[in-house]
Amino acid sequence: MSNLEIRDLHVSVETEQGTKQILRGVDLSIGEGETHAIMGPNGSGKSTLAYAIAGHPKYTVESGSVKLDGEEVLTMTVDERARAGLFLAMQYPVEIPGVSVSNFLRTAKTAIDGTAPPIRGWIKDLDSSMSQLRMDKSFRERNVNEGFSGGEKKRNEILQLELLKPKFAVLDETDSGLDVDALKIVSEGVNRAKANTGLGILLITHYNRILKYIQPDFVHVFVAGKVVEQGGPELAVRLENEGYDRFLSNVNVGS
Ligand code: ADP
Ligand code: MG
Ligand code: MG
Repeated sequence: MSNLEIRDLHVSVETEQGTKQILRGVDLSIGEGETHAIMGPNGSGKSTLAYAIAGHPKYTVESGSVKLDGEEVLTMTVDERARAGLFLAMQYPVEIPGVSVSNFLRTAKTAIDGTAPPIRGWIKDLDSSMSQLRMDKSFRERNVNEGFSGGEKKRNEILQLELLKPKFAVLDETDSGLDVDALKIVSEGVNRAKANTGLGILLITHYNRILKYIQPDFVHVFVAGKVVEQGGPELAVRLENEGYDRFLSNVNVGS
């Protein structure tokens, strides 16, 4: 069984005012096929956690470890992490001018698998995922995320997820900015990936509503750079009703 183990992770970022501590000792274990929701207020460091796992150069790991099946991820390059089976669906997907969706996906797939996917099966998989995500075929030839609406960008992230077949995916506010129809389509894509590949998921969100479509096994409350409470799906319902106030009053947010 695969697992992703985050231990006592401390991460800082360089700002104009100096070094800012953001993650202050994150502990999380995600098993194969498990879905863990991370819920927390704006600015609590959720995206920083996602970037630190993915290896974004702006974020400095001060201490701690992230192990995928016992292998330290934090010393890997970004592409080694992808080959090891990690995937990040970004909160704000970036545009890649001059690179078409189909080229991007095929290049990424080839890099991750170490060999190009056989063309016929590949086209079939691509077409099938795109149609299930209600993405028109014309998107294949469009530049990645260029001129995409918010919802189209999020669908394109899930298209990558379905085709690249990682072991663990971090989904950073994949639900934000989606109307209810798009939310359903995107959630179904995530659920297909779960069912087909035993994907483990770290689902970062503000809102309970996506958790109605993607059932979490565990819910973690994330405040001021760490997990302050854990529970099952009932915790998400409680957060929706009560907000984060009761957690915020107990922490010193400081910098
Ligand atoms: P969340 O995703 O929970 O909203 P973030 O991880 O985006 O939180 O940000 C956590 C804190 O770190 C915020 O105060 C944010 O302004 C700060 N921060 C994150 N990235 C940077 C950066 N590159 N430069 C300066 N400050 C940053
Ligand atoms: Mg935010
Ligand atoms: Mg964020």
